[in-house]
Amino acid sequence: MKQLPLAEVLPISSSVNDAGRLAINGLDVRDIVEEFGSPIYIYDETTIRHMCREFVDNFRRFYPDTEIAYSGKAFSNPAILKIIEQEGLHIDVVTGGELAFAMAADYPAEKINFHGNNKTRDELNEAVEAGIGRITIDSFHEIELLNDVAQTAGKIQAVNLRLSPSIDPHTHRLTSTGILDSKFGFSIETGDAEKAVAAAMAQPNLDVEGLHFHLGSPLFELEPYEEAVEYVCAFAARMTYVHGLDMREFSPGGGMAIGYQASKLPPTIDEYAKTIVESLESACTKYGIDRPRLTIEPGRSIVGRAGVAVYTIGGIKRIPSVRTFVSVDGGMGDNIRPALYEAEYEVMSVDDPLGEPTQKVTIAGKFCESGDLLAKDVELPDVKTDDLLALPASGAYCVPMASNYNLQTRPAIVLVTEQLEARLIRRRETYADLLATAIYE
Ligand SMILES: *Cc1c(COP(=O)(O)O)cnc(C)c1O
Repeated sequence: MKQLPLAEVLPISSSVNDAGRLAINGLDVRDIVEEFGSPIYIYDETTIRHMCREFVDNFRRFYPDTEIAYSGKAFSNPAILKIIEQEGLHIDVVTGGELAFAMAADYPAEKINFHGNNKTRDELNEAVEAGIGRITIDSFHEIELLNDVAQTAGKIQAVNLRLSPSIDPHTHRLTSTGILDSKFGFSIETGDAEKAVAAAMAQPNLDVEGLHFHLGSPLFELEPYEEAVEYVCAFAARMTYVHGLDMREFSPGGGMAIGYQASKLPPTIDEYAKTIVESLESACTKYGIDRPRLTIEPGRSIVGRAGVAVYTIGGIKRIPSVRTFVSVDGGMGDNIRPALYEAEYEVMSVDDPLGEPTQKVTIAGKFCESGDLLAKDVELPDVKTDDLLALPASGAYCVPMASNYNLQTRPAIVLVTEQLEARLIRRRETYADLLATAIYE
């Protein structure tokens, strides 16, 4: 077997097969497309399980009292949730819809945590009725609303408080969430966080388990975690002293980066774990607080590398000494990240992954927006109409953000299982799906 280019950003079971094409766990990607159509998202079960174990093993090695909670918004599907649950992870949801999905997949309620900056009364009702393990409160409005909902249901709800530590994680401004100017969380800097601790502890039907923050994503640097853990632990110690807070749980969120480009790889999970645990241990010692349960919430890093988007080339437009546009049969409708966050991807020829690059091209989607470009100035071997292109590292935040813009049907999703079968886990949408919610009168 030849050395596969871009191996660091592809699923771990990727290879070049005897036909010289890209394969995932030995299954030829072109065969999968011929069976299920194009465009398509292919997920590798082996990579998902591997990443779950990377988190569980590395964090528990340094800090046994750790829970890993998968952030379901990165990509939820019953087959994927089943794998995540088998690996022993908890799950985070951010809407009633994600909660319904988790419940439909029989996820144990006590392992579900509900996040979000503006949960509705209905959503909180559904969560309390379902008996979910944790709700992470994000606003003063929610403290009172949730207490009222829990009181009506005759329950005491375990909660965490989401704090905003005013730390810039050096990622895209649209994916920074722990800075002062953010809609998320109670700011420590302004004094809101202290008021929230006092207010939540005073509610009879809320049990304040702990504190949470989430800095943003994807974070390629370790220092922001270090700084934030120290800062929030100092705050926790003060709250213990002033208000009698008993911080039994501490959650520094998720945001661990993945490799989108071979030239820009993130720290290993071992390095994230070491940094977070060392910061927590030293802050607990320094401030004399009891060691809490540690909850880590990775989303992107569990499923991102496991997924590959595959497109078919249509037209190719050459503008001499300007640019060559290679158009494909998907685009911003199934992956809005380049248009929204200037996200950058590698592109690989499925039919000739070992081919020497001969040209620099821009991969254009088929949607009616000039900004619908999946990748700019990427190097490819000679390619032609009907060839297949793969975008590695497409497993997180592509399918969940997909839309029906231009009334384009959303792609099918296939899981390559450890039994080496290509299993359809979401069928391609049809025109009938698009027409189903319209009312004709
Ligand atoms: C989105 C989110 C995460 C996961 O972020 P990733 O970048 O996917 O790891 C974790 N915690 C909270 C509160 C989130 O909103």
